[in-house]
Amino acid sequence: MHVVVLPGDGIGPEITAATLAVLEAAANRHGLNMNLTHEVAGHESLARHGTTVRPGLLETVQAADGLLMGPMSTYDYLDASKGGINPSGFFRKRLDLFANIRPARTYPGVPHPTRHDFDLVVVRENTEGFYADRNMARGGAEMLVTEDVCISLRRITRPACARIAEAAFRLAATRRGKVTAVHKANVLTMGDGMFLEECRRAAANHPGVALEEVIVDAMAALLIRDPSRFDVIVTTNMFGDILSDMTAELSGSIGLGGSVNAGTAHAMAQAAHGSAPDIAGQDRANPLSLILSLAQLLDWHGERRGQGAYSQAARAIEAAVAEAVEAGELTPDLGGPLGTKALGQAVAGRVR
Ligand code: ATP
Repeated sequence: MHVVVLPGDGIGPEITAATLAVLEAAANRHGLNMNLTHEVAGHESLARHGTTVRPGLLETVQAADGLLMGPMSTYDYLDASKGGINPSGFFRKRLDLFANIRPARTYPGVPHPTRHDFDLVVVRENTEGFYADRNMARGGAEMLVTEDVCISLRRITRPACARIAEAAFRLAATRRGKVTAVHKANVLTMGDGMFLEECRRAAANHPGVALEEVIVDAMAALLIRDPSRFDVIVTTNMFGDILSDMTAELSGSIGLGGSVNAGTAHAMAQAAHGSAPDIAGQDRANPLSLILSLAQLLDWHGERRGQGAYSQAARAIEAAVAEAVEAGELTPDLGGPLGTKALGQAVAGRVR
């Protein structure tokens, strides 16, 4: 498997190094044929190449199977004309990574702010919605009409709704067989109405999977009240962005939030959180978000290529993470004593 590694900004280089230690252990243990290309994006690329995504990087990534990307300080990149491209949005759009799969679960012994243990997955549409940087063929979808008037456009298309709904139902069929479609169709009657139509169509094709429909504001309350009642949650881009940070934090820490951005030909492992500049360079960041994202990427590759060793390596990494956290091998965000590097080594040791 050929993977391009982009460490990113803030805590990115630290959690990427910890993740690569786990990858090395998994590759040795499971006989994976890994080929890594180390590149840069974000601030380091801006300093070296004058742009956060250098010309030619897309082609390098397209030639690979996958991308392991550390968090980017996207808030710093507001002006594309000055080289400030959002690398995350760029690759999601250019590689058509339409499904952002964000699991969240609690672990025995790990403190979490809900009374309930839970295990759910947020399936978030990734290529359109309320994201001004990716929902137009040319130009942005935010317009300043006067200095005091702004219009932001949200794009919803039937094919994008259909494929994200299908991804959610397929996933639910391998889990507890329930999809919750989260929407605001009472206000966005056409866009979210279309999204719901496609969810219902997917439900008709998957008779073994139940569909429930919940309005997004009610969903926020229900998730806090009892996240254990949910299995797979499917939703449009921005709702999924917000709810999945919430579900990661409900599981104990946003630092446990892994994700994969999957398309048909490529996938990108990426932590659900941002670059955490407040703790960067202090060996305090929780690397499990990116380690779990790596496991998802290996699993995606294993399934797509029919190569069981990659899926077995993914299961071994997830099991090592569960064993480590249950043994109290935790970073400070979860009240633990370990640094980023030490936790990466602890998980790598368990994989070995
Ligand atoms: P950005 O602008 O890149 O989104 P941010 O600080 O606004 O950065 P996050 O990076 O998501 O947003 O951080 C939100 C909070 O969660 C911060 O207090 C940060 O320290 C914490 N946090 C995020 N990721 C981790 C992690 N892996 N381990 C520990 N704490 C984290």
